[in-house]
Amino acid sequence: MSEIPHILEKLEGTLLYDTLTAIEKDYQNIYEVQKIWYEKTNFLCPDGCGKCCAGFEPDLMDSEALYMAAWIIENQPFIAEQIAKKIFPFDNGKTCPLYNVNSKYHCSVYGGRPMICRLFGASSFFDKEHNKTWRPCKHLSDEFLKTVHLNLEHKTYSENETISYIGAVPPVMSDLLESSASFLTDSKKTVLLREILPDMINKILWIIHMNGNDNPNGSPNGAPNSPMAA
Ligand code: SF4
Repeated sequence: MSEIPHILEKLEGTLLYDTLTAIEKDYQNIYEVQKIWYEKTNFLCPDGCGKCCAGFEPDLMDSEALYMAAWIIENQPFIAEQIAKKIFPFDNGKTCPLYNVNSKYHCSVYGGRPMICRLFGASSFFDKEHNKTWRPCKHLSDEFLKTVHLNLEHKTYSENETISYIGAVPPVMSDLLESSASFLTDSKKTVLLREILPDMINKILWIIHMNGNDNPNGSPNGAPNSPMAA
C-alpha cells in the first residue's frame, strides 16, 4: 500500500508520478529483503537509538528528495508548509534537521526517509576479493554486541562468520542499488537535504496547483511559494 496515495492521485499522468512510484517500489523491495534478514536474525537496533542521525545530514538524489517531499506533504502538511519556507521545525543544530528529539522513534519522516537511512546498519558489502562482508553499525556498544555473541576483536565478519554468529547476512548494498530502477535512472548528483527539500516540496505543490488542485488532501492550504518546472 502506498504511503502517498493522495499525492499520487493528484500527480497521475506526470513525470513526477512515474518517479515517485518507481522509488516507492524500490523502497518496498528494500523493506522486503531486510524483513527476511530481520526475521532470520532478530538483529534489531536498540530501542530509540538514533545515534546514526547525530552529526549527520543525508545528501539526497532528486528522486529521494522528491519522495521525501511527497511523504511530508501527504503525512505532515503543516510541517511541509514550514519546510517549503526553509524552516525546519525539528532542527537542533546537532543532528539531521528532521530528527525529533521528543519522539521515541526520532526520525520525523521515517516512511519517507532516503536510501542511506534505510540501508545503514542493515546491509552488507563486497570486500576487495568480492566476498560478502558484514560490519555491524559502528554506534552499537560492545555490551550490545556481546548479547549476540559477536567476536569483538575485528568487528568485520565474513559471510560464514556472520551466519555462525547471527544466522544470516544482510542484503548487499550494491545489489540493492543495482536492482533499483530509481537509483539507476537518477542523475546521482546529490544535494544536502536542507537545500533540496524545500525546492522539492514547492515543486510538487506547484504541479498540483497547475493541475487545478489548490488544496490537495494532505497538503498545506494555498498556492505554492515558487513555480518550478516539472
Ligand atoms: S532522515 Fe530520518 S533516519 Fe535519516 S538521518 Fe534524518 S532523522 Fe535520521
